[in-house]
Amino acid sequence: MKLLCDLSPEQLAELLKEYGQPAFRAKQIFSHISSGRELDEMSNVPKDLTNRLKEDGWRALGLKIEKSFKSATDGTVKYLYTLSDGNIIEGVLMRYKYGNTLCVSTQVGCAMGCKFCASTLGGLVRDLTAGEILSQVIVVNALNADGGKRGVTNVVLMGSGEPLDNYGNVTKFLDLLSLEEGLNISKRNVSLSTCGLCEKMRKLADEGYTPVLTVSLHAPFDGLRKKIMPVASRYTVAEVIAAAKYYFEKTGRRIIFEYSMIDGENDTEECAKELSRLLKGFSCHVNIIRLNYVKERGLKGSSETAIDKFRKILDNNGVSSSVRRSMGSDIEGACGQLRRKYINDKK
Ligand code: SAH
Repeated sequence: MKLLCDLSPEQLAELLKEYGQPAFRAKQIFSHISSGRELDEMSNVPKDLTNRLKEDGWRALGLKIEKSFKSATDGTVKYLYTLSDGNIIEGVLMRYKYGNTLCVSTQVGCAMGCKFCASTLGGLVRDLTAGEILSQVIVVNALNADGGKRGVTNVVLMGSGEPLDNYGNVTKFLDLLSLEEGLNISKRNVSLSTCGLCEKMRKLADEGYTPVLTVSLHAPFDGLRKKIMPVASRYTVAEVIAAAKYYFEKTGRRIIFEYSMIDGENDTEECAKELSRLLKGFSCHVNIIRLNYVKERGLKGSSETAIDKFRKILDNNGVSSSVRRSMGSDIEGACGQLRRKYINDKK
């Protein structure tokens, strides 16, 4: 698989030099790619050049939109994309007053094995390349652009896959995403969600990357966390919080802890008290989301009453929290569910 979208502007210029092309041609082609055009659609580029690139196995983009599903209630759109090797991945565009946020996948499947998550049910199939992650933003941005307005203003690496388990491709993607000559999406508008791979969280900060870091904690006790997240056998809750603090100190960006509320598991008073004890005094925010029911998993979301009680305890301890609206639940909004349903229905 040879994807032009995997290349930085410098790498693209190098490649095109081998085809006897001047520097301005690389700029032209880079701009076409960022606008979502395939080689055949680059009107001001000589046909014999695009044909030669194609003959040599090059493609501009890493995927195409296979299907989209629009929520009838809140305008959320779910996308299924087909990669050039036929694998399917998914993403979701959420519309807010301040702009459009695209949730991107970083892997086909996932190796982390969280007990409540649909993305990991078939294990990890493969990593996505930087260009394949970028292509998700490119095609959805192009499709939703409205006059001079961008189709995508914010990006969250919160779809299928563990971004920090695909570190090299993900950081290259972050570099490409913010390029002025490319999509030019501000580094301030990017969030990365991790199940808590501590060395990689520190490495990200050490290497100068500054996305908002969202840490999927989901439990304040090691025993309980191990029960729902196998990764907890590698890192204790204390180690995850220490790595989060390190990230905050290095980058100055406030950490968000994700807490998906599972009925009868992590929604008890005891959990709320322990979570408060752990986070008290740390400038962070807890994002509570009611677990989205995944039928293969048999775990249910908590009741409104349990969520309210939990939040009160955090509140009383000065730990900031909010309950995230569940968007697009009528279109299989939760991670990995849509891809799974699509693949199963085709069988
Ligand atoms: N691997 C990364 C990013 C992908 S998952 C991570 O673990 O953070 C994005 C978020 O959705 C994580 O917080 C994950 O725990 C959560 N999640 C997965 N399945 C869910 C479900 N069924 N209901 C609610 N949240 C879920």
